[in-house]
Amino acid sequence: MGSVLITGASSGIGQACAEVFAKNGYNLILNARRIDKLEKISEELKKENVNIFYKKTDMSNKDEIFNFVESIPKEFYPIDILINNAGLSRGLESLDQGNIDDWNEMIDTNVKGVLYITKLIIPIMKKQGFGHIINLGSIAGHESYPGGNVYCATKAAIKSLTKSLRMDLIRTNIRVSSIDPGMVETEFSEVRFRDKQMAKKVYENIKPLYAKDIADVIFYVATRPQHVNIQDVIIMPTQQASVLINDRDYNK
Ligand code: NAP
Repeated sequence: MGSVLITGASSGIGQACAEVFAKNGYNLILNARRIDKLEKISEELKKENVNIFYKKTDMSNKDEIFNFVESIPKEFYPIDILINNAGLSRGLESLDQGNIDDWNEMIDTNVKGVLYITKLIIPIMKKQGFGHIINLGSIAGHESYPGGNVYCATKAAIKSLTKSLRMDLIRTNIRVSSIDPGMVETEFSEVRFRDKQMAKKVYENIKPLYAKDIADVIFYVATRPQHVNIQDVIIMPTQQASVLINDRDYNK
């Protein structure tokens, strides 16, 4: 069995992917900024008898991304799957009220981080003659919402990038997919609002998706036969019809 590289594996969807892939025998290559969390997750997943390589990496920092890829031990090759998961939203202000540092953090992590690591992993996959790049998009890349401005733009960028990448890689046997969820209860809203209470409210009186729901879909997408590429998956909670319409707030 080869390896799966998961960016942003210290919580939420990335962590759930690490768990699902490890349970199914994949070796793990993980990164995130919170090394203590990666350490704990790796310790816990040792029971699955897989090899785990993890490194503290800031996915908004080009040099750290280059360092990370260079330091992947060769025994973790081939790299079967790259899951471009690390990402975040910050704030929900209208653009004129927005914080420029927050914008840079989102653009650097959600877009430039994905570009840099993908650029580095493609030659490895080309050499192998196979590979699968799975991007975490979002429903926010399909529909915008008030205050979503820069976050929505980063996810729309991922949507465009995914399509273009498929064309670039058409002769390489490398698959490219995008997984685009609606509301998933993770640390996402805590990071967005920098406030636990506000974050909690997002998921009150509604049954959101959970990280494991998304990881299961990603595992399914990644384990189809080589000639099958599931290009895009939009996955929503049953109680959410679109970004702004959900069972709790509709007709309020
Ligand atoms: P989460 O629980 O906050 O997890 C985000 C992960 O990304 C963490 O492991 C975090 O690790 C990592 N990360 C963030 N900035 C990073 C950086 N600069 N360098 C390295 N790692 C970084 O949120 P999540 O919901 O699982 O989000 C995962 C992906 O799903 C994101 O791309 C998000 O946009 C997308 N998504 C989420 C939802 C949702 O409703 N939750 C919906 C659609 C799409 P560290 O903080 O330790 O670095």
